[in-house]
Amino acid sequence: MSRKAAKILYFVNIFGGAILFAGLLSFDLIGLANIVAVAMLAVGMYSCYQLRCPACGRWPGKGGMFAHYCPRCGEPLDNE
Ligand SMILES: [Zn+2]
Repeated sequence: MSRKAAKILYFVNIFGGAILFAGLLSFDLIGLANIVAVAMLAVGMYSCYQLRCPACGRWPGKGGMFAHYCPRCGEPLDNE
């Protein structure tokens, strides 16, 4: 997965998941809401894993998501 795809996945997961979660709660579907919360956590962790710096293997952090260079090691990130 490219960093671009991982970023899209990260934001779609947060915003889509939050809307879905709130919608399910408003219909008192607590069981389904819990499943969505667990799925959001899993997808969030997966997308964060994919967003790691390819050079040093560390997560560049929130600001590093749009940075062209890794704030930790200075290596260029694969930003399309
Ligand atoms: Zn790095």
